[in-house]
Order: sequence, then C-alpha cells, then structure tokens
Amino acid sequence: MRIAIISDIHGNLEALQAVFAHMENERVDRVICLGDILGYGPDPVACVDLVSARCEWSLMGNHDFGVLYEPTNFNASAEQAAFWTRAQFEAETDPERARRRWDFLGRLRVRVSFGEFLCVHGTPRRPINEYLFPDDALNSPVKMQQIFERVEHYCLVGHTHVPGVFTNEPDFYPPDDLGGVYRLNGNEKAIINPGSVGQPRDLDPRSSYAILDEDAREVHFHRLTYDVDAVVAKIHAIAELSDWLGDRLRDGR
Ligand code: ZN
Repeated sequence: MRIAIISDIHGNLEALQAVFAHMENERVDRVICLGDILGYGPDPVACVDLVSARCEWSLMGNHDFGVLYEPTNFNASAEQAAFWTRAQFEAETDPERARRRWDFLGRLRVRVSFGEFLCVHGTPRRPINEYLFPDDALNSPVKMQQIFERVEHYCLVGHTHVPGVFTNEPDFYPPDDLGGVYRLNGNEKAIINPGSVGQPRDLDPRSSYAILDEDAREVHFHRLTYDVDAVVAKIHAIAELSDWLGDRLRDGR
C-alpha cells in the first residue's frame, strides 16, 4: 500500500492541486490528511471539497477547530482569518452543499491509528495544539521523552509546517539529511512530519508532502513548485486576510 500523507493546506488551492497532480504519477492507493485544511488561505471551501473527495480521512487541526468552534490562542491576523473563513462556509446558498461541508468538518477526528502508525495534528500528548519543533530534539529532553512515551512505533504529525523525522535518540533529521527518504528500520521510534502543503515554514516556499510505502517500509518526502504569486494576489485582494499571510508564502516562513 502506498499512502500519501498531506497536512496543513490552509486554504491554498493552487498548492493542493499541485500535490494531487504530482500523486497521479506516484501510484498512490490512499491519501490521508493530518489537519489544518483551513485558516490563512483564500480558498478554504474549495480545499474542503477537494480533501473530502480525495482523502480517506482528515484530522482536526487547531485552525479547523478555530473555524468550526472558536479560535483559541490565535494572534490577531489568524483570528480574523478564522472568522473570514467561517463566513465563506456560511455564505453557501445551497443548503445540501452547506450541510455536507459542515458534516465533514464536524466529523474530523483528533487521532487515528492504522498498522504501526498513530496520527495526530500536533503531538500525541496534546493532539490539536502542541508544537513539536526541530529544536526540541536538542533543547527539550523531558518533552521529547514524554511525547515518545506515547508512541509505540511510529507517529505522523503536522502543525509546525516543517518536514522531517524525529527519532527517540532524540534527534531530528530534515528530509535533505535523509536523502529525501526515511527507512522504517524497527530499531527506533520515529515521529514523521510531511511538512505543509499550503504554507511551508522551512524557508523553502515549495509545497511539501510525503508518501509512505508500506511494503518497501520507506517514507519519501516531496517538494513541488506551484503558482505562489497567484495565491499571494488572492490574499492581498481580500481585506480580512492580512497581506503578511501572502508575503510569507514567497519566503516559506
Ligand atoms: Zn497549520
């Protein structure tokens, strides 16, 4: 089974379309989403429609939660974006379509397990809101230990928008250090982040996702160019979305 892992789309339709187009040639059997379909970006409704049509399931991210329930611990521009995003769903005039979308969002789960994999948006300790940063592998041994205690073999997370692999040494490996491939070797626990489709924050503006090949026991990381300028222009044209939300896409931060 080859499973595409996507996360943190954030209403960026052009990036999401580029990722799905790339999958066409990757013999993908299933697609799963680790959350944050919504927030920040200009096309939240289209992204929900595409994810609900193409993904087997999606997790509840903090921004999905913010739009569906209430934005907690958001800065001013993220909160304003969450309220604007909610209004886009409320503006739907076809009651059947509106109902289908709210149902989909209402069914997002906080954690899903399959085979050796536990999947959460943030961390196994605080699945919706806690960030596991690359620096934590060096600076936060207690946090790393407590998080790895909750991982039996492997865990898939999103939320930081930084792709790579944490091992229980503890250590962190960006995809480039792994030659783009992490091999599941059974000797170590690992927490794997596919990076962000719609708002990468590792100073590389290209869209990020990963493919898990269960038979080969490998995770392949992919980066894809997409029309960043088109998305920036859309964001700049929407008064409720801060210009910075567009500008940051160009720098991957
Ligand atoms: Zn996110």
